[in-house]
Amino acid sequence: MDFTLPDELRLLQETVREFVADAVTPRAADRDREAAFPADELRAAATLGLCGLMVPEEFGGNPVGSLGAALVYEEVAAGSPALSVTLSVHNTLVCGAVATYGQPELQAELLPRLASGEILGAYALTEPSAGSDAAALTTRARRDGDHYVLDGRKIFVTHGDHAGLYIIFAVTDPEARTSRRISAFAVDRDTPGLAVPRREHKLGLRASEIAEVTLTECRVPATRLLGNEGDGFGIAMALLDGGRIGIGAQAVGIARGAFDLARRYARERQQFGRPIADFQAIQWKLADMATRIDAARLLVWRAATLRDQGQPHTLAASQAKLFASETATFVTDQAVQIHGGYGYLEEYAVERYFRDARATVIYEGTSEIQRLVIARRLLSDSQ
Ligand SMILES: Cc1cc2nc3c(=O)[nH]c(=O)nc-3n(C[C@H](O)[C@H](O)[C@H](O)COP(=O)(O)OP(=O)(O)OC[C@H]3O[C@@H](n4cnc5c(N)ncnc54)[C@H](O)[C@@H]3O)c2cc1C
Repeated sequence: MDFTLPDELRLLQETVREFVADAVTPRAADRDREAAFPADELRAAATLGLCGLMVPEEFGGNPVGSLGAALVYEEVAAGSPALSVTLSVHNTLVCGAVATYGQPELQAELLPRLASGEILGAYALTEPSAGSDAAALTTRARRDGDHYVLDGRKIFVTHGDHAGLYIIFAVTDPEARTSRRISAFAVDRDTPGLAVPRREHKLGLRASEIAEVTLTECRVPATRLLGNEGDGFGIAMALLDGGRIGIGAQAVGIARGAFDLARRYARERQQFGRPIADFQAIQWKLADMATRIDAARLLVWRAATLRDQGQPHTLAASQAKLFASETATFVTDQAVQIHGGYGYLEEYAVERYFRDARATVIYEGTSEIQRLVIARRLLSDSQ
């Protein structure tokens, strides 16, 4: 088994690392403090091809596969976890949806605009009464001639107030069995009846807002249906298999960012006449942190590689997401501890990573739901 990245992916990794060091990390703390969307950074990312990671070249994309995307999300998260989740949702969940399930004309219309960064894509599955139980969603899509009419309310939509396109999941056949009730639609921001009435104030990832999106008598052309009517729940879950690998990669990046700060601080901070890195208690923390980060990255790379090879990867994606996100919460907590009281101050970036990590064990399926997915697969002998 060869753990060396191919040259083109190593080059991608180095390019993104430099971009993050120059253009992302220096502004990340201010963006967080001001809860300001990183529009300039996103534009710069788009010029590097980072908004078209799942878009074929013929549509102006820069397709790098799930492994390539995981490298990008890790590098970006090490500087700005908020920009990383924006890229992950846009590329893996939205571009991936249109590229895989959109009709050819829809792909030709949307993919070049998504890849160039002209429009940002958001993914709207969650509703007030349908979180972990996503199949319980009630947003309705009624067929009316060559249109669908959408009514409902989506919440927790990442960068929901900056998106130009939303993947909306809605019930097309309330009488059908659970797996066939729902359909998926690509809906433009300027569709009459679509509104973004509210942004939430949240613990972390403050540069990437979550918003409520309401749909009132929204007329959407039938050509905006992704896949066939009734395919929506399967599409949502298949996209989340990829999304969970992306969140795993984001979590690895968050953990790495916090680890780097902690290691540097441990070498610099003097107590009892020597660097705190001389104390075994601190050394063991660093050893545990680094070991878990490496293990998490390997799980992410395995899941991404299986996905790129077209092999079953639901189990591997959930394992990667579960372990990497719990690693991020562990490592960021230890990193704060290594900083002592200074770790509790906004002035030291480590508290931002600590807050940002908390979302990774919640979104795209909580840790409890990942364990449920993993156990079901193990007990049914499937991947
Ligand atoms: C920062 C952020 C960004 C988000 N971005 C998006 C987005 O872009 N698009 C989108 O659609 N959604 C998004 N979400 C929503 C997110 O996916 C949901 O919050 C998540 O799936 C959990 O749903 P819930 O909040 O309703 O919690 P609930 O489902 O109400 O869960 C509450 C608790 O019960 C547990 N639980 C529930 N069911 C079970 C079970 N069967 N077994 C064991 N435990 C269970 C959960 O694990 C959790 O601990 C985002 C959330 C956050 C915090």
